[in-house]
Amino acid sequence: MDSEVVIIGGGPAGLSLARSLADAPLRVTVIERQPEAAIAAPAYDGREIALTHRSIGTLKALGAWNLLPADEISPLNEARVLNGASPFALSFETSGHGGGPLSLMVPNHRIREALYQTVAEQPNLTLLAGTGVAAIRTDAQSADVTLEDGRVLSARLLVAADSRFSRVREQLGIGAEINRLGRSMMVCRVRHEGDHQGVATEWFDHHQTVAMLPLNGRRSSAVLTLPTEAMARIGGLDDATLGAELTRRYQGRLGRMEVDAPAHIYPLATTYARHFAATCAALIGDAAVGMHPVTAHGFNLGLQSQATLAQLVTDAARRGGDIAAPALLRRYELTHRLASRPLYAATNFLVRLYTDERPGARLARHATLRVGSRLPLARQAITAMLMQRRTP
Ligand SMILES: Cc1cc2nc3c(=O)[nH]c(=O)nc-3n(C[C@H](O)[C@H](O)[C@H](O)COP(=O)(O)OP(=O)(O)OC[C@H]3O[C@@H](n4cnc5c(N)ncnc54)[C@H](O)[C@@H]3O)c2cc1C
Repeated sequence: MDSEVVIIGGGPAGLSLARSLADAPLRVTVIERQPEAAIAAPAYDGREIALTHRSIGTLKALGAWNLLPADEISPLNEARVLNGASPFALSFETSGHGGGPLSLMVPNHRIREALYQTVAEQPNLTLLAGTGVAAIRTDAQSADVTLEDGRVLSARLLVAADSRFSRVREQLGIGAEINRLGRSMMVCRVRHEGDHQGVATEWFDHHQTVAMLPLNGRRSSAVLTLPTEAMARIGGLDDATLGAELTRRYQGRLGRMEVDAPAHIYPLATTYARHFAATCAALIGDAAVGMHPVTAHGFNLGLQSQATLAQLVTDAARRGGDIAAPALLRRYELTHRLASRPLYAATNFLVRLYTDERPGARLARHATLRVGSRLPLARQAITAMLMQRRTP
């Protein structure tokens, strides 16, 4: 065999798994479609990732945290959920949880860059960049991967980390729930006059959702969600007009806004694979669970999935066991399903509740916020989840 583990996709999930296996007695290959220069110095993509304390712990353990530029790490002290013109806000903050920020925001491209640096010189790793996968064949002994350039690689365990529209998942014959939401999300760094005080707001207004995620200084990541046709118009605006549009849509709460970095638009779709494992194969990251970004958990769950799989594989390899044993893969699937399914279902429920424009739904979300704002235990439970410090 060419290696024991072949990982398809060198995004955050694939690279962090490769790094997690650095000390395992295994040869690992990562196949990434983009050229190596593009993953060594990833382009800014507008995404600001709200990291849970568990994810921060994992990135520290992988050696990636210290490689992040300190001035690009922004504290998020409190999160508030607002509904239309309702006076009730659901607020999550850290008092009673040992203080410190609720979460830290880091640009996605910086995390990818740091993860690449952690694996760049890894002795047990081969990185094949600039080529995709043409075909896959698995049996009880091994997984064979035919690359687009004609080479064939063989491994005991194949891991798909090739995004929520995973082609590898399809090639393995694993189905998925795929919900195309007909909405698009624009992410755009803005400078503004007002002080956000480290507070993130998620404002579900009629026909639009606007989130403001606090960045260092008087800057925020503006996240605007609209039906895809309405977004097409906004996507064509020049910077000055877009700044004015965002100021108006946010009703001037942070004063005048100006565009600070190019806007990026993502069509929204959520995905959930029917299985996270098959013969000699496993799915991690978005290939397993593609979350709606509204609750900011996709990256965090992806990091958790790779950590769960890496632990099981490393333990098996160290005791001379089978790293693709059906029982091991079933255990991975069950653990990650338990970690992800409730969050996935709750996020989709929230999205449905807050984007439904019928009068009944408006009343329901008003009532939810009203009740939620008076339920300190529920708020504390969600805050505790964000503050969780244990690495898996
Ligand atoms: C606007 C936005 C904001 C977000 N904010 C947050 C947040 O605040 N918190 C959070 O936790 N999550 C957030 N997310 C989600 C997070 O960005 C994703 O969950 C995360 O990027 C998934 O990582 P991944 O490695 O699984 O997949 P990806 O990042 O999609 O990487 C997949 C990689 O596989 C490669 N690839 C694809 N196909 C092939 C192939 N056939 N062969 C070889 N290589 C292939 C691709 O080139 C890519 O490098 C956000 C997402 C969006 C869109």
